[in-house]
Amino acid sequence: MACASTEPGDWAKVASLAQSHPEIVPCFGVHPWFVDRLQEHWLRDLERALRSSRSCMGEIGLDRAAKDKDFALQERVFSQQYALAEQMARPAMIHCVKAWDKLMAYLKHKTTPTPFLLHAYSGGADMVPGLAKLGAYFSFDGHVTEDKRQKLRKAFLAVPKDRLLFETDCPPEDKECKEWFAEPSGIKTVVELGAKVLDMAPGELADIAWDNSRRFFGPFS
Ligand SMILES: [Zn+2]
Repeated sequence: MACASTEPGDWAKVASLAQSHPEIVPCFGVHPWFVDRLQEHWLRDLERALRSSRSCMGEIGLDRAAKDKDFALQERVFSQQYALAEQMARPAMIHCVKAWDKLMAYLKHKTTPTPFLLHAYSGGADMVPGLAKLGAYFSFDGHVTEDKRQKLRKAFLAVPKDRLLFETDCPPEDKECKEWFAEPSGIKTVVELGAKVLDMAPGELADIAWDNSRRFFGPFS
């Protein structure tokens, strides 16, 4: 499993979790909600954290819904981190909310983008083919079965099976999260819910997601 960080203060904790649990792929990065707290040598420290172990970049990204976070600063911090992921050949875990135009414009310039996953994918089904062509993997949580989330369900159904991944993630302020969203063991329930939507056997979907994660994380797993 991958364990993401959101800001420099998390990196040592994530690294130590991964040291004590070899099944964890540690991910180091600065989430767009925390770009305004960075101190001078953050990028150098990030490179050091990434070099310290077999690790992934993330969460990094762009979030226009976070109105109090300067978007130009988010873009700068995102592109610095993405460039580092490319340079170090590390897969990247991307958080993107209401900023698909910018993300697409950024990735389109890449001839071969570094492997990236869109965590808690919230874009439309219409964007899935374009993003998949750029090499995207799409990660979903347990919201896919909810009736009021038709846009999410359509997007989920549009994702090529070889690009599907699943996650548990529950920010404390998200009132819609069920308890198990925040717990790694909840992944079993997430996959079962996904399998229901796709009309597949949960075990079959779990195997597909496992193979996809091995491909995505490559030499890390
Ligand atoms: Zn996120």
